[in-house]
Amino acid sequence: KAKKHLGQHFLTDEDIAKKIANSLEGTNYDHVLEIGPGMGVLTKYLLQNKPKVTVMELDRESVAYLKDTFPLEHLQLNTTKENFNILEGDFLKHDLSELFQKQQVAIIGNFPYNISTQIVFKALENRAYVPEFSGMFQKEVAQRIAEKAGSKVYGILSVLTQAFYEVEYLFTVPPTVFNPPPKVDSGVIRMTRKENFTLPVDEKLFFRVVKMAFNQRRKMLRKSLNSFNLSESLKEDPIFAKRPEQLSVQEFISLTQKLIENGI
Ligand code: SAM
Repeated sequence: KAKKHLGQHFLTDEDIAKKIANSLEGTNYDHVLEIGPGMGVLTKYLLQNKPKVTVMELDRESVAYLKDTFPLEHLQLNTTKENFNILEGDFLKHDLSELFQKQQVAIIGNFPYNISTQIVFKALENRAYVPEFSGMFQKEVAQRIAEKAGSKVYGILSVLTQAFYEVEYLFTVPPTVFNPPPKVDSGVIRMTRKENFTLPVDEKLFFRVVKMAFNQRRKMLRKSLNSFNLSESLKEDPIFAKRPEQLSVQEFISLTQKLIENGI
């Protein structure tokens, strides 16, 4: 029986499962980490293609199922137990760098929706080890990650993700292919790390500026960033007459640059 507090909605459509598993396309990683495998609907397709797969699942019952019942042999998978690692645990609490000994790890999953943005933030923090990241979110969250400046849902999550990753919205999945069905549509996206994934400005300040700006989304930046004690001349810069949703990632970077140049 599905556990609601763990965000359990099991995918029942094999074609969609295969498409999600195949949404990781790069060859620039040594290892795939699936978050929340449940009963392994994506896992079996990952095992067909990928060199090494680790799954991390919080639900003890699902872990037991994967260990005992998951029919590795019957699926004629081209894999051995050494290539397949099942971990019981909470992804949000796991230290990834230790776990993967500084390997490059692609992350994938049909994510539990209650923690999906925290999963993204954790992947961003660990981006030095995460060249690719794809999976299923609540559709609205998938859009928020993928959309560009000017869109209604463009916000903190979009800017912070797109500062380091190219994001593609791949396809929408209806509630009917899950058991139990969620209330809303889902969306699958792929994030591919940019070649240069360090910022030319202080990262903490960049994050702070983005958050402050979007916390007062309707206001011009000269208002929402006022607590930085902006000088009069800085306030006259046309960028400060914009609202946050009008600024591209690049413009957020130059905005941060301007603040730094002005001694902030
Ligand atoms: N991958 C399966 C599928 O597609 O049918 C299950 C997807 S279900 C939406 C999310 C899964 O994430 C559940 O199996 C749930 O137990 C697991 N989960 C929830 N919170 C987790 C956490 N913090 N760390 C790891 N797994 C978690």
